[in-house]
Amino acid sequence: MSNHSQEWLQRSRNAVWHPCTQMKRHEQLPIIPVARGDGVWLEDFDGKRYIDSISSWWVNLFGHNHPRIKQAIREQLDSLEHVILAGFTHRPVVELSEKLHALTGLGHAFYASDGASATEIALKMSFHYWRNCGQAGKHRFVSLQHSYHGETAGALAVTDVPLFSATYAPLLQSNLRVASPDARLARPGESAADVALKAIADVEQLFQREAGQIAAIIIEPLVQGAAGMLMYDPVYLTRLRALCDQYQVHLIADEIAVGFGRTGTLFACEQAGIKPDFLCLSKGITGGYLPLSCVLTRDDIYKAFYDDDVSRGFLHSHSYTGNALACRAALEVLAIFEDEDILVRNAEKAAQFNRHLAWLQDTPGIRHVRQRGMIWAFDVETERSDFSLAFYRAMLERGCLTRPIGNTVYFMPPYVLEETHMQQLSESAQAVVAALAAQTASTGSSREMPLP
Ligand SMILES: *Cc1c(COP(=O)(O)O)cnc(C)c1O
Repeated sequence: MSNHSQEWLQRSRNAVWHPCTQMKRHEQLPIIPVARGDGVWLEDFDGKRYIDSISSWWVNLFGHNHPRIKQAIREQLDSLEHVILAGFTHRPVVELSEKLHALTGLGHAFYASDGASATEIALKMSFHYWRNCGQAGKHRFVSLQHSYHGETAGALAVTDVPLFSATYAPLLQSNLRVASPDARLARPGESAADVALKAIADVEQLFQREAGQIAAIIIEPLVQGAAGMLMYDPVYLTRLRALCDQYQVHLIADEIAVGFGRTGTLFACEQAGIKPDFLCLSKGITGGYLPLSCVLTRDDIYKAFYDDDVSRGFLHSHSYTGNALACRAALEVLAIFEDEDILVRNAEKAAQFNRHLAWLQDTPGIRHVRQRGMIWAFDVETERSDFSLAFYRAMLERGCLTRPIGNTVYFMPPYVLEETHMQQLSESAQAVVAALAAQTASTGSSREMPLP
């Protein structure tokens, strides 16, 4: 690494508290200063390039340095960068809200700047709705085993990743948890749908007992991302929708990670033919350019807040609510989906990448190879507690940014991935899996920390 890069990483270590990171690790593990991005590539100050196979933490859809999104933001900059959204409005926020309504059948878009805030908004709205309807006793939330909905206190209370939530347990509302429909749990002879139906039985039992105190169930449709890309059958969503109707429980779909084409349809819920009561969106919404999130809901829920009484209104706010630049970027993202037939092209790319990854199917020690839309994942059988870190490092050396979750390796690439990139990712992963398996045999497990 050049002196120039060394200097940036040193200054970052001193000045920046990096997210999701035990900072002491960076005594050994270098932080990579990124000078620029272009398409799928990130480039450091020494000119070394990395394929961004995780879309910069799942936000980037059409690659870095995208001409159309850049141009849209530039144009918006010349008229209005931001304005208070209480008592005022502007063109991009109106147009985006209309577009999202047309695409989802849900409306009254309420904006914030990040995913966790969208979760908070949906939880608060659901509770407040029931309260406005004279059912304030419905104040608890249900989430799935291995769920992830963000890291603010309310969101963490519906998140089931102990590494993130256990420390803060005394700060978190006690909520309810149901089984994950994770297709990996299928026993011999069982299908993914069988697992989903068993998990649904768990929800039904809970609703039978506790629906009187349950405001909502929050789920990540089709793919539980942060838990390690656990995938499940859409029948779970269809049945869950029916149970929520039957027991008067709101269904909150957290499509923060899976929205905007990730699972093959524009929104994951479409694959089950269902409409949630609340839909949370963020991450890809601006193509990874600016922070923006949004909660959409049903007309009748909106109407329960519409009143002469101020306190029946939803008085939540964030300073940057409906930021004009971010909304303009989001409009351009939706225009790109339309103009460039992205979902059809993604299906072709997915088939192509599957062919490159065929080696996974017959490599010993690789389990649960899975794919949905533009998400690929597989589990590596290993004794190494540092597998994720070792894989991450070895892939970086080969010019690939990955970020395994435990022993799950996944790819969630920008939609502009081309065949040469697929090849580099696939061949690198194959070589690294083989190298790590060989090392395990000789060195046993390592004491290094895993990547969280
Ligand atoms: C990333 C994520 C969040 C949180 O979004 P942030 O912008 O990181 O706060 C919530 N839910 C899901 C499913 C996510 O993947």
